[in-house]
Amino acid sequence: MIIAIDGTTASGKGTIAKRLAAKYGLPHMDTGCLYRATAVAAIRQGVALDDAEGLQRIAATLDPAAFSDAELRTGEAGKAASQVAVVPEVRRALFDLQRSFATQPGGALLDGRDIGTVIAPDADVKLWVDANVEQRGYRRWREYLGYGQIISLEEVIRQMRIRDERDQSRKDAPATIATDAILIDTTDLTIDAAVEKAIAAVEAVLARGKTV
Ligand code: C5P
Repeated sequence: MIIAIDGTTASGKGTIAKRLAAKYGLPHMDTGCLYRATAVAAIRQGVALDDAEGLQRIAATLDPAAFSDAELRTGEAGKAASQVAVVPEVRRALFDLQRSFATQPGGALLDGRDIGTVIAPDADVKLWVDANVEQRGYRRWREYLGYGQIISLEEVIRQMRIRDERDQSRKDAPATIATDAILIDTTDLTIDAAVEKAIAAVEAVLARGKTV
């Protein structure tokens, strides 16, 4: 079974993805890591975030060991990731890695922005996880406070709107809900309730005879 979980920043998709992967014993790829790792390596090597050739070289030779680097989780890395994600050469360089992960024997779960539309349009379960920007901004702001990063809630929401707009308006693989995806709006849901909805979507497919 292939499970595709797409959605907006701080919508809860990452947590839903981890919990579903554990429940169904599926290997999980957080595809945002690929864009974050490309962006962080580019910054370290002095490659401009719009240098298609330089970025393509970095994306094509990513070292998976870099995915656990704490630097990838910062707001700056997320912003830079959304900048390199606009570059078609980067998306092309990262395609095969994601596609072969998705189609491995035994199935897989991937989360990102274009899994259900571009990487695995043939996925058995497609979820689009979203919440209103004020709620997502509030969640992210509390995370920043937890790390000791001082920033106003208004600024976090402002930056989130910019990132949403960049992800949704890019020409190549814009972040958008697949026509056959199930929407999970987490604005007023606890994470447990959101995970329950996601499990119900998987169970509905299993009930139709698909095996994990
Ligand atoms: O999900 P995460 O916040 O880690 O993703 C960082 C950025 O990487 C996103 O804002 C988006 O621009 C890009 N991305 C993408 N396609 C994916 C996953 C992430 O364009 N499948």
